[in-house]
Amino acid sequence: MQFKDILGYSSTKKELLSLAHSGKIPHNILLDQLDGMPGVPLAWAWFQYLNCEHPQEDDSCGTCRHCKMIAELAYPDLYFIYPVVGAAGSEDPSGDFFSKWQEMLLAKRAYFSSEDWLEALKADNSRPIIYSGDALSIERKLSLHISESGYRMVIIYQPERMREEMANKLLKLMEEPPEKTLFVSVSLDPDRLLETILSRMQRLEIGTLTHEEMEHALLEYDHSLSKNDCYIATERAEGILYKAINTLQNSQQNLSYTKDYNFVIKYIESKEVGQLKALSEEMAKKGREYVVASLEYLLANLRFALRCGIDASFPRETMNRPEQQIEQYIRGWVHSGNILPLYDAIEQAIAHIKGNVVSKIVLFDLFMQLSVILTPSIKEASLTKIKARQKENK
Ligand SMILES: [Zn+2]
Repeated sequence: MQFKDILGYSSTKKELLSLAHSGKIPHNILLDQLDGMPGVPLAWAWFQYLNCEHPQEDDSCGTCRHCKMIAELAYPDLYFIYPVVGAAGSEDPSGDFFSKWQEMLLAKRAYFSSEDWLEALKADNSRPIIYSGDALSIERKLSLHISESGYRMVIIYQPERMREEMANKLLKLMEEPPEKTLFVSVSLDPDRLLETILSRMQRLEIGTLTHEEMEHALLEYDHSLSKNDCYIATERAEGILYKAINTLQNSQQNLSYTKDYNFVIKYIESKEVGQLKALSEEMAKKGREYVVASLEYLLANLRFALRCGIDASFPRETMNRPEQQIEQYIRGWVHSGNILPLYDAIEQAIAHIKGNVVSKIVLFDLFMQLSVILTPSIKEASLTKIKARQKENK
């Protein structure tokens, strides 16, 4: 993995490079990121840079023996700890799942999210955690000599999934790591880390990409992208390149969300509770990931509706045709007075589904809440439409 394989995120790359050049490399770093950002690939590329036999100013050479081994994740001094499932009695929980981890990283390269890892683990409804067996295991591994001559690194993905006893055991190692040993933790939720751990880490925040950086990165990713596709993906990505790439790859999937979304608003308007119940069951059958992705899509579209409502010049070409039709249909339903409760309801539903509450119940409950929140503005919007029609007829 070279820095050039990770598009965008130039400020984090610069920070990592300047730490490497400074000669004073902190042995305990926290990369604070949103889900889907490339914290793990950046740590991987940084490790490759630090151990490269012929490093250039801003990247590893990619061709020396070390670079090749690290790129294949076959280097003896690079360790990973990550959340897994069903490994309570294991002496090496992360090690047991290494082939899955390696396979996912080599396939997804710089673009993966916690959902991809869940899928690779085939975790079903279990919630992955970092088992305390990993503390002993890493202690054992670090007590061995460094195999190669360079740095050794432990990359911890989602350290917030550690139990307290594990964190306390790891703390001792982090405080006094063996020579030339670096810990890089990649956290999606640093607020959940123990204060004792957090206070010992040097924190680097991975920032979101600006629109300009995103468009630039997307064109580098795919030279043949049309300006419009690029624009659509950027608008939906919230500064996370992984999301933009997913949007480009999932246009078929998006059509399916649009269809569901279309039904949701029609049934809410006509107050067909039985149909909403049936729809929640049908959507739930498509799996937890589908439901979460479709709700995120719904959020994005409500955001579009709000922006169209307050800004007449908002470029509607960022929406596909069915979405434009929906926007026209629900015009006036979403405004600054109800957007926050709408957001809260949907975000809470996403959190519940991620927390393994039964999807069909969460969805049905959400549709009822949306119905209550939207009813006053639906009534008002239909009155406005009627008045406009009467005016036209006069
Ligand atoms: Zn090299």
